[in-house]
Amino acid sequence: MNKKVISIIVPCYNEEEMIPLFYDEINKISQTMDTVLFEFIFVNDGSKDGTLKKFKELANKDTRVKYYSFSRNFGKEAALYAGLVHAQGDYVAVMDVDLQDPPELLPEMYRLIREDGYDCIGTRRKDRAGEPVIRSFFARGFYKLINRISDTEIIDGARDFRLMSRQMVDAILSMTEYNRFSKGIFSWVGFETKYLEFENKERVAGQTTWSFWSLFKYSLDGIVAFSEVPLALASIVGFLTFGVALVLALFFAIRTLLFGNATSGWTSMVVIVLALGGIQLLSLGIIGNYLGKTFLETKRRPIYILKESSESNIFDKKGAEKNE
Ligand code: UDP
Ligand code: MG
Repeated sequence: MNKKVISIIVPCYNEEEMIPLFYDEINKISQTMDTVLFEFIFVNDGSKDGTLKKFKELANKDTRVKYYSFSRNFGKEAALYAGLVHAQGDYVAVMDVDLQDPPELLPEMYRLIREDGYDCIGTRRKDRAGEPVIRSFFARGFYKLINRISDTEIIDGARDFRLMSRQMVDAILSMTEYNRFSKGIFSWVGFETKYLEFENKERVAGQTTWSFWSLFKYSLDGIVAFSEVPLALASIVGFLTFGVALVLALFFAIRTLLFGNATSGWTSMVVIVLALGGIQLLSLGIIGNYLGKTFLETKRRPIYILKESSESNIFDKKGAEKNE
């Protein structure tokens, strides 16, 4: 019988303490799923600790383990992409190493994708328990905003943890954009996705690399990558202020005709000048943001650069040479 292969992609950045814990868990799960073969793809995203050494130890004792190590930190999105490029499985799962994505969901995800004919089984957390209130507030606001101004649906609380069919993985690989916002990409390619819900979990060891500021920048990236509404916003606001200016001009002209010209109105002058200046700067900023992204995209830089891997072919076809 031809066994199906599941590739598990695990991006890691400074996770030396988590890797053995994670491996034990996933190994346990893989043993309960004896109708499939596994391939574990660990990606070292330029860690400064012993992450790569841990990978090598695992690869030595388990032939299912493959690793790919970057020349520097390229970010989780790049690590995911590198994993997808190298995954050879019929099904591909993406999973964080900190056990916030419970590996014990895997058998159920596999059952659903096999039996119910979904292309992808995603996961989302039920609630935001255990998260700082302010962060939840801004996160909710972000999802509301982006779903209003983007045609691509971004699911609130959806994690990157998902099991996908080969067809969907190939679709994702066909999107070679440099600014990768996975939550948008997963949804943009379409296909039928079912979401499993689970209770939010705290990280088992190590610490998160996301600060409030980095989350804020990440959400802006998401908006710029999947919506053009902010660009249009500049012209809409400009149009409206122009209208208001016309009405005001008329109002002041009539008032001067009726009551003569007193030097009053100085305050409103300053307010108007400041407001207009502000709007202009904001619009420039928005345009600049999109222009900056376009600039980066046109450089066609590789999404990641490999330094070494378990295949030890330093030259990586789809990464460093992706634009051949
Ligand atoms: N990660 C990565 N590169 C980075 C930051 C994070 O590969 O630059 C990995 C990290 O090792 C972990 C996953 O991405 O496996 C999720 O990171 P983290 O737990 O810090 O994020 P959170 O769960 O807080 O969203
Ligand atoms: Mg985490």
